[in-house]
Amino acid sequence: MIDFHSHLDLYPDPHTVAGECNARGIYVLSVTTTPSAWIQTSALAPQGSRVRTALGLHPQLAHQRKSELRIFDSHLPSAMYVGEIGLDGAPDFKPYWNEQMMVFDHVLRACSQAGGRIMTIHSRRASSAVLDRLEAFPNAGTPILHWFSGSKRDLDKAIALGCWFSVGPAMLAAEKSRTLVRHMPRDRILTETDGPFAQIEGRSAMPWDAQKATIELATLWEMSEFDIEQLLNNNLRRLVGNNYSGGRLGGADYRQLSEAIGKRTESR
Ligand code: MN
Repeated sequence: MIDFHSHLDLYPDPHTVAGECNARGIYVLSVTTTPSAWIQTSALAPQGSRVRTALGLHPQLAHQRKSELRIFDSHLPSAMYVGEIGLDGAPDFKPYWNEQMMVFDHVLRACSQAGGRIMTIHSRRASSAVLDRLEAFPNAGTPILHWFSGSKRDLDKAIALGCWFSVGPAMLAAEKSRTLVRHMPRDRILTETDGPFAQIEGRSAMPWDAQKATIELATLWEMSEFDIEQLLNNNLRRLVGNNYSGGRLGGADYRQLSEAIGKRTESR
C-alpha cells in the first residue's frame, strides 16, 4: 500500500501512526509544511521502514515562513523528496500570491541546481500557474501533482510536461475528480491520503486509508485490486529508480525499496 502524501507529523500522536505504518508495511511519503520541521519529522520514520520524509514549505505558509528558505537550502542536499510545495489561489491565500511565487520559484531553482528531486505539489485553484512554473524549471525533477483539481486543459498540459499524480479517497469521492482521473496516465499514478487534513467519513484520513483509493481505482479502471496494487508498486519503483538511480541517495533508496516491494510481491 502506498500513501504518497501524508502529514505524519501533524497527527495528534505521530509516533503511533508512524509505527502502525511500519507494522503494516505501508510505503509513506511523509511531507512537511516547513523546512524547520524536517529533522524531527524525519526522525519519525522507524529504522528500516518504508516511510520517507519530504522537505517542504507549504504555499499556505509561504508568507510566514519565507525566512526558512535558508533552512530549506541547507537540508536539500540530504533530501531526495521535496514537498509539500506549490501555490494556492484560494481567497484566503491569494493576498500572499507574490510571496508564494517567490518561495515556489526559489524551491524549483534550488531543486534544479541540486540535480532534480521527486516533488509533491499542491495546486489548489492555481493549477495553471503551477504548470507555468514547472515549465520554467524543466530540470527541477519529477513533479507529482497531489489532489489535482484543475481543468481538463490543465490536466493535458500537466501530462505533456511529464507530471505524475497522486490521488486519494477524499478526492475520488467527487465525480469531477473521477472524470479527471479517467484521463490520467495509468503509469504515472500513485495513491495518497493527505491525512490528517483530508476527511473520510467525518474523521481524519489515516495512511492505511490509501487502500480505499486503490479500491476506487480498481472500479474506475475496471481492473482487479491486485492488478492495481501491482501497477502502483511498479509505478513507485520506476519513479524512484528511473529518476535518480545514479545519485547517491537515489541509488541507495531504490535498492532498498526494490527489495521491499519485491518481498511484498513474493509474499502474496
Ligand atoms: Mn497536504
